[in-house]
Amino acid sequence: MCGVCGIWSPPARAAEDPTEAARLMFFSLYALQHRGQESAGIAATDGRDLRVVRRMGLVGQVFSEPDLGVLGGRAAMGHTRYSTTGSSKIQNAQPLVVRDDRLGELAIGHNGNCINAREIRDELGAQGARFVTSSDTEVVAQAIASAPGASWDDRLRHALPTLAGAWSLVILTPAALYAVRDPLGVRPLSLGRRDGAWLVASETCALDTIGAEFVRDVEPGEVLRIDDRGPERVADLAAQGRRGLCIFEHVYLASASSRLGGVSVYATRERMGEILAEEHPAQADAVIPVPDSAIPAAVGYARRSGIPFHEGLIKNRYIGRTFIQPSDELRRHNVALKYNALGDVLEGRRVVVVDDSIVRGNTSGPIVDLLRRHGAREVHMRICSPPIRHACYFGVDMARRGELIAARLSVEEIRRHIGADTLGYLSLEGMVRATGGTADEYCSACFTGEYLVPVQLELDKSVLEKVP
Ligand code: AMP
Repeated sequence: MCGVCGIWSPPARAAEDPTEAARLMFFSLYALQHRGQESAGIAATDGRDLRVVRRMGLVGQVFSEPDLGVLGGRAAMGHTRYSTTGSSKIQNAQPLVVRDDRLGELAIGHNGNCINAREIRDELGAQGARFVTSSDTEVVAQAIASAPGASWDDRLRHALPTLAGAWSLVILTPAALYAVRDPLGVRPLSLGRRDGAWLVASETCALDTIGAEFVRDVEPGEVLRIDDRGPERVADLAAQGRRGLCIFEHVYLASASSRLGGVSVYATRERMGEILAEEHPAQADAVIPVPDSAIPAAVGYARRSGIPFHEGLIKNRYIGRTFIQPSDELRRHNVALKYNALGDVLEGRRVVVVDDSIVRGNTSGPIVDLLRRHGAREVHMRICSPPIRHACYFGVDMARRGELIAARLSVEEIRRHIGADTLGYLSLEGMVRATGGTADEYCSACFTGEYLVPVQLELDKSVLEKVP
């Protein structure tokens, strides 16, 4: 997960308001909060050096007005973190800064997961590099800093092809802002424009929030350098003929208000619900979503099935996503803390409850139970994605394979485990069709086990903490 953003503004704007670049990054990060809630940071430059503020916590808690004054500058970048490699602690918060004696400082923010970080770290370590964090992003940063080349452009061209996995990167030096996507384009990254400034952000919703106009997506494999001359492609690492946007961005990760590769996430989720209604109809009196991510899909299910849409669960908006605390124990408590059921809607009714996914299987059982305790006569669980049977190595913290309920149990066993009357999952074909695209545009490895680059199946998020 994680959200990244960046801005390069014209000199006149910074002269007028020296806090504008950092302020726009703050509001962009606010709009990307759903992508990570552990830590947040902004790096900014006035063309001479880099200044960084990063702390643990939500964006609104991390930054204060005086921080924006400290950051200053005309170019900035931001990061909000959900850990996929390295634990949740301040040392691993981003942006990370590396220094080169000749080229100076470079700040980096990473969304994704570099799957050969351990090997690269061993190689660099043997050459004398020292690492202070357990995050793969530091490995990426050091790989860039220690690559041969007389400029950052050269070093990026040299280092990036050695990285395997998923990486949407935003990089800031005093001279330029870089936006980079891995060859498959696993994680999204978009380019925007506002009052002469150039912006990049993980999702278009961040561009909308600050009133920027969407220009285009950064292409898979594209290395874009942005400075006063505008954006320039300094390298193209695209995988010939294959793209691999994470389809789970459409299912769950991205904001419904974003567009991924030009496709509306909201419309995709509605279509997922419609197709789900065709594939798994139910005899019921009400369709209710598990808020918030499944609301569009429940709207689609209700429309296609003709069963009325109702709210049956109210979510406490001030509690973050279920996965905020990365321990199973806390996740279990979260269900009760997170939702209140509406007895007057549910009493005596047969309900279809729509959710986006079942991962570990800790959420659905308590939800079915909550609905029954508030009077639901029958509970028909419908899921707008196929069973998740394989771990993700490309930037979604989805648990190890053994923790995935669908890797251990059949659909019928899961139905019994969660206590639903019926359970239906959207098919792989239906999910892809809902995006309006084709299977070869997406990475669907968590559903199919077909990884687009070879993975070591035992890799886990603390891999770099085990290095002596
Ligand atoms: P569970 O089956 O208990 O592991 O959790 C499934 C719920 O968590 C679903 O309602 C999803 O909305 C949500 N969810 C799915 N994937 C993720 C993820 N990678 N991070 C956070 N929440 C997720």
